[in-house]
Amino acid sequence: MTIGDCFDRAVLRDPEGEALVVRHQAVRWTWRVLKARVDAVAAGLLERGLKPGDRVGIWAPNCAEWAVVQFATAKAGLILVNINPAYRVAELDYALNKVGCAALIFAPSHKGSDYVAMLGELAPELATAAPGMLSAARLPALRLVAVLGDEEHAGCLPFAALASDDTSALADIAIDPDRPVNIQFTSGTTGFPKGATLSHRNILNNGAFVGARIGLAAADRLCIPVPLYHCFGMVMGNLACVVHGATMIYPAEAFDPQAVLETVEAERCTALYGVPTMFIAALNHPDFDRFDLSSLRTGIMAGSPCPMAVMREVIDRMHMDQVTIAYGMTETSPVSFQSDVDDPLDLRVSTVGRVQPHLEVKLIDLAGEVVPRGQTGELCTRGYSVMLGYWDDMERTAEAIDAEGWMHTGDLATIDQAGYCRIVGRIKDMVIRGGENIYPREIEEFLLTHPDIVDVQGVGIPDEKYGEEMCVWIVARAGATLSEAEVRTYCRGRIAHFKIPRHILFVDDFPMTVTGKVQKFAMREHTLGLLK
Ligand code: ATP
Ligand code: MG
Repeated sequence: MTIGDCFDRAVLRDPEGEALVVRHQAVRWTWRVLKARVDAVAAGLLERGLKPGDRVGIWAPNCAEWAVVQFATAKAGLILVNINPAYRVAELDYALNKVGCAALIFAPSHKGSDYVAMLGELAPELATAAPGMLSAARLPALRLVAVLGDEEHAGCLPFAALASDDTSALADIAIDPDRPVNIQFTSGTTGFPKGATLSHRNILNNGAFVGARIGLAAADRLCIPVPLYHCFGMVMGNLACVVHGATMIYPAEAFDPQAVLETVEAERCTALYGVPTMFIAALNHPDFDRFDLSSLRTGIMAGSPCPMAVMREVIDRMHMDQVTIAYGMTETSPVSFQSDVDDPLDLRVSTVGRVQPHLEVKLIDLAGEVVPRGQTGELCTRGYSVMLGYWDDMERTAEAIDAEGWMHTGDLATIDQAGYCRIVGRIKDMVIRGGENIYPREIEEFLLTHPDIVDVQGVGIPDEKYGEEMCVWIVARAGATLSEAEVRTYCRGRIAHFKIPRHILFVDDFPMTVTGKVQKFAMREHTLGLLK
């Protein structure tokens, strides 16, 4: 089955049911209305000369058009390329040229930045091009540029003009579910983002399994505050809803805790997604207690380590009794582990659950040997969800996926006898101090038990004497007067002496990717700058 087949099945099941709600655009579409828009754009893209297999970039924050383009490209046999709205000229250049986008659909501006001007820097030819007929020296593959919104921009087709009245061509397209449907760039947490090439089979199945684990059904209303340009939004969010017939609800263009709380209350959402920092921000909103969140039942926290204390608050204060944790990566469609809603609470808050159906996993040591159960090793996964490869990058593909098809995740984990997995951290983030391994995650979890610490992140900093020293950045509770000395005193006797952070910084926030992940490499660089 292709994504298009699955989408049409959702429409057939309940044409007048609510498919998509976009709060900031006042959009409220039934499956029938959404399908009409999707089919019109799918046909329109083909009419404008795009051929199956062509790449179509989308550079926009969360919006209704994003979902339309996602399903339209899938139906037309095109490959959607998710471009992070935080990208600027150099990154846009990289993303468009790396995969040779033939079309680009983009928002004219976002968060005060002028996207038309940024594109114009790369393609000055746009100013004089006839809409849909671009020929730009620095973007040789790009022909068709369409812009969202009502304003006219030179060389760009208005998005509305992409829609065609004649959708008959769609019936003739044969789509192989093993062909690419999507190129997703990784978050760029550890460095430059890589373009993972994913097939219909990869992501449609993952959306199905992820939704099944939280019991997603037609009556569910899923609040999606996570970015659509990332697999968390487009696969675990949109595709899971399409497979299970649930309603997709976007609270805002980009994450905003107030909009999330308002949306859950007003739309009576039953499920909510987020990375841990998003849940922390919502829980710490000054008016949190004013909102009625009693409709919430389930959801997914994923993307980075989920502190136990936060999980407990999500269950107690956000009513998400059936919340789950998921672990995955863009390269594996993304989810490979997820808790079940009826897993015992202590396992649900302390592990990422058990492996998803139809996947194999193993943990290996540095020599590539499988480690005994209960011991820490690098997590490797194999099965339907492993990406086709990094687009046009055989070298890095071969580094990530070995000859036997195992995806080497770069994450350290343990798996207990019953199959529950604990993510220990990224291999790259492990701190080795005087020969002792320190996992920043463990220190972070411990420090979060301090009543005046709201959020904390740890990294290793090079040190002449010990090789590396532990450094933590702490966000203290508003009004608290926490000192370095107090933090050290708190650690003493509670964690091993060598784990007590050498460097302690008090900050307001952390360097983040737009997906809400902490960029530890940036923390490391910043701390090193301060220590000079
Ligand atoms: P890049 O590969 O560009 O450095 P990234 O790895 O953050 O960025 P993603 O594919 O978005 O890009 O994220 C996958 C990674 O996120 C995993 O490899 C893992 O390190 C981390 N992760 C995801 N879910 C969890 C989780 N539940 N607990 C701990 N870590 C997680
Ligand atoms: Mg990664």
